[in-house]
Amino acid sequence: MKEMDVFCKIVNGDIPCYKVYEDDYVLAFLDISQVTKGHTLVIPKKHYDNFLAVPKELMHRVMDVAQRIGQVQIKFLNAKGVNILTNCYEAAGQTVNHFHVHVIPRYEGKEGFEIEMKANAGDLNLPALAEQLRID
Ligand code: 5GP
Repeated sequence: MKEMDVFCKIVNGDIPCYKVYEDDYVLAFLDISQVTKGHTLVIPKKHYDNFLAVPKELMHRVMDVAQRIGQVQIKFLNAKGVNILTNCYEAAGQTVNHFHVHVIPRYEGKEGFEIEMKANAGDLNLPALAEQLRID
């Protein structure tokens, strides 16, 4: 049998966490490693590997809670911004194999966390690429 991931263990109560929100479907708790003050993880209680695998209705529930937590971080932690991010698969930085959304409040100055997106893919045929990616 596959070993249970750490977030399933948190849902089961086998590992403690600092809860921020809970209902029948969704759990939100402080990330053990606080990138910034208030960094929160939102997860479905039922196991899905990542964002790409989760059914839409449940994804909507998770994103709804993430939005509300972001709003609270702005209001009560005096954050100036919020990053909402989710990593899918190891190549994208996913370390826990259970869908989770990071809600990371941003303050002023350097915070040990920078997202820098650089145009790094070189010369591309954008019309062909768009064709390849087009969805109905
Ligand atoms: P990922 O890299 O998969 O996007 O993020 C996984 C996150 O889970 C990391 O930010 C890490 O700090 C957090 N994490 C890992 N183990 C635990 C744990 O046992 N408790 C809590 N609260 N967070 C954890």
